[in-house]
Amino acid sequence: MKHCPNLDCHGLAKFKIVSEFNDTAKICSDCQTPLVDGPAPRPNELGGRPQPDPDIELVPILVARDQAQLILIEEALDMAEIPYMAKGEQIQDLFGFGRLTIVNPITGPVEIYVTSTDVDAARQALAEILD
Ligand SMILES: [Zn+2]
Repeated sequence: MKHCPNLDCHGLAKFKIVSEFNDTAKICSDCQTPLVDGPAPRPNELGGRPQPDPDIELVPILVARDQAQLILIEEALDMAEIPYMAKGEQIQDLFGFGRLTIVNPITGPVEIYVTSTDVDAARQALAEILD
């Protein structure tokens, strides 16, 4: 585990989360700062996941019916570089911002959230899926 030590990192500025990377990464993908070893410091050590800033207003934009649709949504949002979170019946914790990693098969609907400032861009990116 490595993390970005740059306090001016724009990933950090936008989401108030220090970016973490696996050991093969050498520079921060957000700011190109060389990474340092160890997990990112976080205020809440209990969670184990980076917690989104509660001040960020999250807006649910759609509900994925199944995992196939969820993958389409993930691809569309990744292409548009829109950060998002997903919450489903079988996912108790909100995912951190960034790429959604499905460890267990999802059987129930998954609600997709973006920040209030990204709603329009996200709706555009997902227009084909929403039709
Ligand atoms: Zn950075």
